[in-house]
This record gives sequence, structure tokens and C-alpha cells, in this order.
Amino acid sequence: MSYELKVLNPATEEVVASVPATTAAEVGAAVARAAKAQQAWAAAAPADRARLLRRFAVVVDEHLEELARLEVREAGHTIGNARWEAGNVRDLLDFAAGGVERLSGRQIPVAGGLDITILEPLGVIGVIAPWNFPMPIAAWGTAPALAAGNAVLLKPAETTPLTALRLAELALEAGLPEDLFQVLPGAGDVAGSALVEHPAVAKIVFTGSTRVGKSIMARCAERVKRVTLELGGKSPNIVFADSDIEAAAAATPMSFLDNSGQDCCARTRILVQRSVYDRFLELLAPAIESVVVGDPADEKTQMGPLISRVQLDRVRSYVTDELKGIRGTAPEGPGFWFPPTVLTGLAPDAPAACEEVFGPVAVVLPFEDEADAIRLANSTEYGLSGSIWTRDIGRAIRLSRAVAAGNLSVNSHSSVRYWTPFGGYKQSGLGRELGPDALTAFTETKNVFISTEA
Ligand code: NAD
Repeated sequence: MSYELKVLNPATEEVVASVPATTAAEVGAAVARAAKAQQAWAAAAPADRARLLRRFAVVVDEHLEELARLEVREAGHTIGNARWEAGNVRDLLDFAAGGVERLSGRQIPVAGGLDITILEPLGVIGVIAPWNFPMPIAAWGTAPALAAGNAVLLKPAETTPLTALRLAELALEAGLPEDLFQVLPGAGDVAGSALVEHPAVAKIVFTGSTRVGKSIMARCAERVKRVTLELGGKSPNIVFADSDIEAAAAATPMSFLDNSGQDCCARTRILVQRSVYDRFLELLAPAIESVVVGDPADEKTQMGPLISRVQLDRVRSYVTDELKGIRGTAPEGPGFWFPPTVLTGLAPDAPAACEEVFGPVAVVLPFEDEADAIRLANSTEYGLSGSIWTRDIGRAIRLSRAVAAGNLSVNSHSSVRYWTPFGGYKQSGLGRELGPDALTAFTETKNVFISTEA
């Protein structure tokens, strides 16, 4: 049955576009076309594939401002962030292009012959992307998958299909073969499910909620389909008394308010050593209150709206009036606005302290000593990111080893880099994206023994 997606501007609630959505039958037809295009792509000379991906990067760069403005309109991202996001797509395409001719197997010593491994593309890859970083997350799966010789079918989130559709047009403009990279906007339980369940889709790369991720993993298991999952987070920001408290407090607001807190790496569980707890809050309050929340298209804005009414209601459900803490300001009127919020006095197992809120809300919890900090940091079901603030190098190393998370930073809140690996421990995910092995995740290793005795 045909249906449409209505795209709203989250800052104004105005309709930006209506997009025809993909039916399950149309997904099937797209898979068949992609499988054909993939055969020719995999057979092309590596240098030619690399050249086309580099050209795609150049075309993205030429349209960077247009893509960024589109992201502001459909996702409410601040213009500065949106430019970074479009640039991230360009950089990732360049990085992946550099891997095409370097994607080599190994030669392993054996008696009586020659043993080699061959890295073969998987075939057709389904990338299911969320709305919080529509462009970068789409590219994290798409660029290395294409570079490794696969075709890609990208299903963007219902609320944010526009930049993905534009990227598909730019790919054709750059000369990528027809049908190799297709964008299929649609509902998760229609177009997304059709990709997950299609026998000719070899791998699903999913980013989104832990709930949907688990269901995708279960359905992929039916066919032993390959799967990478990037799921939720409740990442700790651990501040020791021996750290530079001023620097730690100054860096805290944007460690969880960037992208209005709709970031799986947001440091929303702020753990502060009890001896500096009061001092830290004194420093944090003015920093939170001075965050500029407003029109995302304004260059000075630091935080825009939430993505949708659904998300706003979800965030509101965690912050009831009787809770204590620090509140910033947000515009009134149309748009999905919520002020920067830091909650204090909560138990470590209160819902706001251990569930992913996915909004501009953090909690501050005191801890006694190093062992207590590690215990609190590891006491959620998640394990995606975290930060450790201390001047003691031994402690920094001990904590880096002890905190069960895939991406840690010391005396900083480092963002994701396309050339370093990214992924989660525990229920934050499965597998790794980006980094030196990004392309290998889209290959199957074949071992071949050639006898010299015959
Ligand atoms: P979601 O998991 O429902 O959606 C993510 C993607 O999966 C979308 O493209 C969606 O269409 C698709 N999808 C949904 N159901 C599907 C299904 N049955 N089969 C295949 N694909 C399906 O996330 P959401 O509802 O947009 O957000 C809910 C919560 O998820 C948020 O509040 C947040 O906590 C979390 N979230 C996390 C991330 C992240 O980066 N880890 C991103 C988005 C949302």
C-alpha cells in the first residue's frame, strides 16, 4: 500500500516536505536491482571504484552548505553542527576510497602449497539509520560498504529522509553506477523490516534504539545474516577531586547538550567525587544557564529543538516538577523545545539516572573513591562512551581499563573520529564501525589452499 512521510521543521512545526514512502514490494525490487549493480561494481578495477568514491566526496563537498541547510530544516541541528556532519560524509568517502586498493588478504605459511586469504564483498548491505545524525550515520555504513565492493540500500528514519535522498542524487551526479546506492525512505516496520527479512540482503547495519536493535538481531539470526548494531548509551562523565575542576565543569554542558542531547554518546551520568561535589555544581550552574538555545539556523545558537513531539513528550516524562537541579532556558511557542537540565539528588537507579533519555537532561551523582566511581560507571546496561577527568595518569589508565565502554576519553569529551573504531560494550551494540578495519566489516574472508604437489 502506498503511503507518504511528512517531514516537519522541528524548530517551527511547519511541513518541510512530503516524501513518498517505500513499500515492502518496492524494497524487493530495489534489492534485485542492487544485486545486479553489485556484481559489476565488484568486478570493476579497484582504482576505478576508488576514483568514483573520491569524486562522490568532491560532489558532497561542493554541496556542503546545501546539505547542511537541509539538515537544519529537517532535523533542527545547529548550522555549525550540520556543516560538520556534511563534512563528515565527505571525509568518510575519502577515507573509504583510500582503502579500496589496500583491502588485501594474507599469505599464510603452509607445507605443500600456498595458502592465501581473499576478502570478498558480502553483496547487498541494508543500512537502517536513525534521525539523530542522519548524514554521518548513513555514511558510516555506506562509504566503507561501497568501498569494499558492496551495493547499499539505505533506509533513513521516518522523520529525516531528505539529506539521504539528496546524497543518492549526488552519488549519481558523481558517476556512481545506477542502483548501486539507493535510498528507501519508509516506515521501520515496513521498509526496514523488508530489508531485514529479505534473503538477498547479506548484512544489516542498524543504529537506533536497543529495543528495535534486539528485534533486528533476532530476525537476522533466522538466516545467520550479518549484523552490526549501534544502540543506546548512558555514558558517565567521571570527575575526580584531583582533576582541573574548572575545566571539567566548563566542558560538561556541551558533553550532553550537543545535538540537544540526542546523541548516543552523550555524557548524561555525571559522577563527581563527593569532596568536590558542591564546588562542581557551583561552577556548572552558570555554564548551563548560559547555553544559547534557539533558532538552529543562527550561527550563535548552541542548542536547537528536539526532533519531534514524540521525543519531547518522552523527555518531559523523565523531568517532573518536584525534581531538583539546574535548568537553562528554551524558547516558548511552536517547536519541540526543552531547556538544558541537570538533575541532582536522584538515586543511581532512578529512571532518569540509568535510562537513555535522549534529550538535554543529565544527572549528577556523588561518589566516594575510585572503586565507587567504577562501580557506578558500570552499573547500567549500556557501555558506549565515557569521560574520565583526573590529573593522576595512573588513575586515568586504571579507569580506562576498568570502565566497560567502547569509547573513552581522558580530560576531554572526544567526539567520534572516522579513522578510529566506534562501537559499544554490553547492550550498547555489537561490532565496530569506522576506524582502520571499517572496510573489513563488509567482507567475508575466504581461505584458499593451492597444492604445489599435484
Ligand atoms: P528506532 O530504533 O525506532 O528507529 C531507528 C531506525 O530503525 C529508523 O530508521 C526506524 O525506521 C527503523 N526501525 C524501526 N522499527 C523497525 C523495525 N521493526 N524493523 C526495521 N527497522 C526499524 O528509534 P526511534 O523510535 O526513532 O527512537 C527511540 C529511542 O531510540 C530514542 O529515544 C533513543 O533513546 C533511541 N535512539 C538511539 C539512537 C542511537 O544513536 N543509538 C538513535 C536514535 C534513537
